[in-house]
Amino acid sequence: MNTERCPICLDREGTAASMGQYGSKDALLVNCVTCGQFGISRTALFDRHLADERFLTPVQRAALSHRIRRVRVNGSDVPLITHDQIADVVQEKAEDLLPSPATQAANILAFVSAHELRFGTHLPEFPAGFSAAVGSVNDGYAKDIALQLHARGLLSGIPIRTMGDPGSLMNIGLTLEGWEFLERERRGSFSSNYGFLALDFKNSYTLELKDRYLSPAIEQIGYRLWDMRDISEAGIIDNLMRERIRDSAFVIVDLSDGNLGAYWEGGYAEGLGKPVIYICCSSRAEAHSPHFDVNHCTTVFWGVGEEEAMTKSLIATLRRSLGLFS
Ligand SMILES: [Zn+2]
Repeated sequence: MNTERCPICLDREGTAASMGQYGSKDALLVNCVTCGQFGISRTALFDRHLADERFLTPVQRAALSHRIRRVRVNGSDVPLITHDQIADVVQEKAEDLLPSPATQAANILAFVSAHELRFGTHLPEFPAGFSAAVGSVNDGYAKDIALQLHARGLLSGIPIRTMGDPGSLMNIGLTLEGWEFLERERRGSFSSNYGFLALDFKNSYTLELKDRYLSPAIEQIGYRLWDMRDISEAGIIDNLMRERIRDSAFVIVDLSDGNLGAYWEGGYAEGLGKPVIYICCSSRAEAHSPHFDVNHCTTVFWGVGEEEAMTKSLIATLRRSLGLFS
């Protein structure tokens, strides 16, 4: 392993990285103090985007660092960064790249709690590069959020501010309020501004229904509609799906195809106490009438050709579930 600059974070926090051949793969294995351990394909490494320091913005690089870190936290194999993932990050909207500051705040609490639970002591200080785990653009930004968590009484610790330094905390722990906040967050009590659509991906009809009817109508009431196709991050798809469901404001489940995955996702969301609305195309559902366990649940039925009426009915149901005024 040679000590080299990390091709993803460019050692922005002054941390070090080493790089060496990744087994028999056409890739290199990188150990970066900030990003963690990951593989990077040679084509990605020599991609003009990565080679040119100015091509990827600090936010794009921070998003890649965070995704690598998150995959490792979720306990999967070493993530492999390919040309495609870099191209995805380049195409994504800047505001979708990193978690929102509120989610970053929850991630900081989770970071500190993990240390406390593991070592039984407070965290002496935030380690260099911890912003990658939190999903902040850099350590300074993350420390600023940590100081605000301290001011709100969720973190305990000693604030330190020196001239020319944005400030940080020492001897950091969670207050009881912090632990309670984290527990509520884990149960998914804090919802974002998107809903999740569980469906059978093999079915182009439902995908078209989503793009032509559901997404535009749901955007009009201030939400976006996600499905698993919107998740292009490296990682175990199951974990990412759980997170997406946990953080969503509501879940729509298409039962038309009797897809078992969609049933599972609906049940998971119900268990978390999310508003779950089932939709079912009657003309397609003859072969798969909804399982009797969901018979009592809110289900919007429609027939082919009734997409517009169905969307209206769905939006009315959603407004009721979310407590929105019409
Ligand atoms: Zn790195």
